[in-house]
Amino acid sequence: MSDLRADAPQGAPLDSSLVYQERAVDALGELGLKVAREHLDAVAQRAAAEHWSYTHFLGYLLDGELRERNRKRVELSLQFAKFPFIKRLIDFDFSAQPSIDKRLIEELMTARYLSEGRNIIFLGPPGVGKTMLAIGLAVLVAELGHRVYFTSALDMAIKLSKAIERNQLHRQLNALMQPKVLVIDEVGYLQLDRLQASLLFQVICNRYERGQAIILTSNKAFGEWGQIFADDSIMASAVLDRLLHRSTVINIRGESYRLKEKRQSGSTAGLPSLSPEPKPPTPTGAPKLN
Ligand code: ADP
Ligand code: MG
Repeated sequence: MSDLRADAPQGAPLDSSLVYQERAVDALGELGLKVAREHLDAVAQRAAAEHWSYTHFLGYLLDGELRERNRKRVELSLQFAKFPFIKRLIDFDFSAQPSIDKRLIEELMTARYLSEGRNIIFLGPPGVGKTMLAIGLAVLVAELGHRVYFTSALDMAIKLSKAIERNQLHRQLNALMQPKVLVIDEVGYLQLDRLQASLLFQVICNRYERGQAIILTSNKAFGEWGQIFADDSIMASAVLDRLLHRSTVINIRGESYRLKEKRQSGSTAGLPSLSPEPKPPTPTGAPKLN
């Protein structure tokens, strides 16, 4: 740091204090430290009243700035993500879903899978919490300050096919590479046509090649994925090959959470379960297709 005394204002100490006080406000503004500037007076008064050291004061002021920046970044990241709802894993009732290994979810909550480029795949019938778990994990990644993006498989495929018409496919595909995590929800709820299937295939391939994680949910066992991919079992096999190469597959069994809640409150007493047991998934790395 240069010799600060060289530029020191002349005059009585009180005057120079006032000059530096004003400079502090301007300098914080120029440096883009808006929160610190806004809180400078209040923090300085508190520091004086509580006899803080100079470094305590400075650390406190800058910490406030960083916290606010982080809060804004997370807020933006959550907006960018386009989640249909925001639910956190802390609200997930594991006792209602004994087929889920809580420790495995806790391991995923460490976000180690991101650096490993590992995919997470939730399989199971409707209502068992696949989307909630996918969102819960992605929210954690957003809270780490990363970009995440949520889409259903069909919406993504439709968006990409429209991009072809506008000659913007490359740009759109590139945009889907940017998020640290891409959540592809509801793979298999609706059958894709050939073009849509090949677009989904491209997204999965591109992210696989760059080691970028995908969190995917599906109601279909891997053996049925040929149907999802326009009855093209070769394409489905190629997708599964990449998806499962580095992956954690969580197969959720049991009935719909909503239905269970209703049943417990008595409003659907006597109704049969609407959630069939899914077929067991094919072991990781060895996709089998019909
Ligand atoms: P899926 O994607 O498997 O169809 P969702 O994740 O959409 O299921 O879950 C349906 C609804 O039930 C959501 O509102 C979700 O938050 C809630 N839900 C599902 N499972 C649980 C659970 N174990 N604990 C708390 N809420 C749950
Ligand atoms: Mg869902």
